[in-house]
Amino acid sequence: MNDMLPSYLGGEWVGGAGRGAAVADAVTGEHLHQVSSEGLDLSGAVAFARIAGGPALRALTFPQRAALVKAAAAALGERKQELYDLSASAGATRSDAKVDVDGGIGTAMVYAGLGKRGLPDDTVVVEDDPIQLGKEGLFFGQHVLTSRRGLALQINAFNFPVWGMLEKLAPALLAGVPSIVKPATPTAYIAQHAVRIVVEAGVLPEGALQVVCGSIPGVFDLLGGQDAVGFTGSAETAGRLRADAAVTHRSVRFNAEADSVNSSVLGPDAQPGTPEFDLFVQALVTEMTVKAGQKCTAIRRAFVPRQHLDVVTDAVQAKLSEVVVGAPGAEGVTMGALVGLAQREDVREKVAQLASHATTVFGDPHSVEVVGADAERGAFVSPVLLRADDPDAGSVHEVEAFGPVSTLLPYGSTEQLVGLVARGEGSLVGSVVSYDDAFVRDVVLGVASHHGRVLVLDRDSAPESTGHGTPMPQLVHGGPGRAGGGQEEAGLHAVFDHLQRTAVQGGPTRLQRLLAQ
Ligand code: NAP
Repeated sequence: MNDMLPSYLGGEWVGGAGRGAAVADAVTGEHLHQVSSEGLDLSGAVAFARIAGGPALRALTFPQRAALVKAAAAALGERKQELYDLSASAGATRSDAKVDVDGGIGTAMVYAGLGKRGLPDDTVVVEDDPIQLGKEGLFFGQHVLTSRRGLALQINAFNFPVWGMLEKLAPALLAGVPSIVKPATPTAYIAQHAVRIVVEAGVLPEGALQVVCGSIPGVFDLLGGQDAVGFTGSAETAGRLRADAAVTHRSVRFNAEADSVNSSVLGPDAQPGTPEFDLFVQALVTEMTVKAGQKCTAIRRAFVPRQHLDVVTDAVQAKLSEVVVGAPGAEGVTMGALVGLAQREDVREKVAQLASHATTVFGDPHSVEVVGADAERGAFVSPVLLRADDPDAGSVHEVEAFGPVSTLLPYGSTEQLVGLVARGEGSLVGSVVSYDDAFVRDVVLGVASHHGRVLVLDRDSAPESTGHGTPMPQLVHGGPGRAGGGQEEAGLHAVFDHLQRTAVQGGPTRLQRLLAQ
């Protein structure tokens, strides 16, 4: 039986040797396939990216590259049903799959638009006006951005196989840099199928996009100063890879998006009965249950004025009791499964750690009623709400249970609140739900230093709000400190991150002729 998931390397689909890792259906527990890169020519793939992909992309202008990004996204859009179907095997409901698949396609489309409208019809970006450096006006300097002659190695997390790939691929393509994608093993089959769709559409030059299913031994040894690694995953893996000599000695650019203990804050003005109170409760439950809480942006700490802690607990409990856990597509199911049994074990362990400093007020990580599937064979887990009456409790600010798990915490003063939020040591996103200008200002400015994105939610913006958990490609997605210290998305800045900034100095006329656009 050949059940090996093929990789796309050097222009061919090739299966690894050995047995590698077995991947099972998250809902039924049935064996799906093996993932192994053993025996694959990974150094050949690196060379192919450099020799074929890079030159072909660099020969194109920015708008031409934007057209490629758009064509790749359109090809995926036409066959997205196939990706939804595969996502169901990873435990994703249809709306979960849309977050990944449509979210990824939308992100690529936004980048295509930014590239078409925001970049010159050229292969170089002239960043600024000439800067006079001599008294007589004979000598000036100016910055240009050009494509690096390397490749982008994308190492992705399991939870967003399509979006995670496209948000990295689109800026790299715009920058004229070829990509080798290394998806996380548990959902590599979804990312691999997305690559297959793009390859079959024939829209990208050969060597612009390759995918390795399995591990990538030795690849870091081949990387140098023209290359970039975009990593999404746990802080632990990020730390290990960041310490590689490729990064520490050869200056491979390393962008990390790691885990974070994101927060949401309910303002003291948002009493029960106000629109903001309801928005806070709804956002918390949404963030807990979309993708069964396997979102890097999910709310892990929900801060509530101490006097409202009981009533918020009741309101969140009531909403969580409406959640129906089960097989994606089964009647009434609103939350699917975790990606696999190992992930469920991890969530149970992390909940136990949180429970040493908090009380469980909803759900049991070891027991859940499931519709349309077997609760034990599938990787199902109940939403779990905890409550830490002592907000200083250590683990609550440190432990990320990567599932449908959040903790309610009380606060007194705004000053105390800002200090507590900062205990997350750097997050991707925080939100403040309030209609009080002064409170919102104090919180936003107080916590901005620790966040890549801060969302203000109130009755006026709610109808168009894109929500706490949704990164927007036009804006920063990334966070300081524990969140990895990188920026995976940031509008055109994500493209510029792949380009080399060079100061060109010379006489004004020469510079003008050289850099005319
Ligand atoms: P992970 O175990 O750290 O794995 C992440 C990726 O690194 C996978 O593709 C993994 O491949 C790969 N990897 C592991 N060891 C490697 C090595 N020595 N060399 C090269 N690649 C290696 O994380 P995960 O379990 O997939 O993802 C969950 C975590 O990611 C959560 O903590 C979550 O918060 C975080 N996350 C963050 C964001 C964000 O945007 N900040 C988004 C999503 C998830 P294998 O699977 O083959 O081991």
